Amino acid sequence: MNDVVLTLNAGSSSLKFALHSVDDPLVPVLRGKVTGLKRAPAFSLSVPKDAGLPLPALDPACTHEEATVILLDWLGTHAAQHAIKAVGHRVVHGGTVFDGPARVDAAKLAQMAELTPLAPLHQPHNLAAIGLIAERAPSLPQVACFDTSFHATQPEMNRLFALPYEMSQQGLKRYGFHGLSYAFIASTLPEHLGAEANGRVVVAHLGNGASLCAMKNRQSVATTMGFTALDGLVMGRRSGRIDPGVILHLVQQRGMSVPEIDALLYQQSGLLGVSGISNAMQDLEASSDPRAKLAIDLFCYRAACEIAGLIPAIGGLDALIFTAGIGENSAATRQAICDQLVWLGVEVDRYANDNGATVISMPEATCKVLVIPTNEDAVIAQSTIEMAGLV
Ligand code: ADP
Repeated sequence: MNDVVLTLNAGSSSLKFALHSVDDPLVPVLRGKVTGLKRAPAFSLSVPKDAGLPLPALDPACTHEEATVILLDWLGTHAAQHAIKAVGHRVVHGGTVFDGPARVDAAKLAQMAELTPLAPLHQPHNLAAIGLIAERAPSLPQVACFDTSFHATQPEMNRLFALPYEMSQQGLKRYGFHGLSYAFIASTLPEHLGAEANGRVVVAHLGNGASLCAMKNRQSVATTMGFTALDGLVMGRRSGRIDPGVILHLVQQRGMSVPEIDALLYQQSGLLGVSGISNAMQDLEASSDPRAKLAIDLFCYRAACEIAGLIPAIGGLDALIFTAGIGENSAATRQAICDQLVWLGVEVDRYANDNGATVISMPEATCKVLVIPTNEDAVIAQSTIEMAGLV
């Protein structure tokens, strides 16, 4: 029997899972996901690849909770050589309460539930999975790893909205997300940058959800997502930063309801909304439609603007790191963003960028540019192993 931890990452319509060995948490022994929940759910495995394991069929109406039960049963049958010693969960919101991972007990679960209004699309799924496992295996340690915790180091200035101060004190402020990804990248910076790892670094997490984090001493100083995961960059389906007056206009002049505006900003905007074709960068790059190009150009221009907007928080730029689906795989997107930041000392080596190098900046450039694959699961697994006392 191989001792492992199970990591669960419930998104708004997906459930990602992995098993990591307690002895070697960086590389998963099994990894997969259930996508398209409540629409067209599909269960897939990426590790081990092509192992020929029978995968469960899912009912079209399958919910997160049902998918979790199916997954646990499936693991019990098809991954029985792995003994699950603890479960680690990505929990989207830790508010100002949780500035690091937490071993779950009833009191902490109640504190997390109080934060649900801050992340209504994700937090209920995260907490439901914790509750379900607590019922099935009450003695199995569970650890919550928060997407917001990494940003607890942000100075107050960078968290404030220019709203009446009492509202900030009530929690209306910038939290920031993608913290597990940023924590992973921060942990790898010394190996890539040596002493410069503690310098002025911007990490661009460009996936379906996208954000930036400005770091100094490998700690978050400022980030582009704010009170919600809607702020900042253009994303696959989310608008990113828009004039708040647009929302007033939609309500007052167009009579749109709150659910309609919610769907507009979270589901119908971003790359999908501008292109009218797809939320996926890969699809847009393959398209010859001018609207696909317009969406890509806007994505890159807005990303360059937002990177520039973070510079006052860290006083310059020693390194720019690209990560996540688009950041890791789209050389054209990296090039287009960097071409708009030459004035910041960013100069891309086109050959290195096109050929999968880690360092893609010109040797003489003052700002290093790197591509580093992120690994949120490994951060959850590592924290779970530590918090559950498995080392
Ligand atoms: P999520 O936020 O759902 O975890 P990912 O980090 O998986 O998202 O990123 C998904 C995005 O990465 C999509 O826009 C997808 O099209 C893009 N992407 C993945 N591979 C490539 C590629 N080879 N070229 C361009 N874009 C890619």
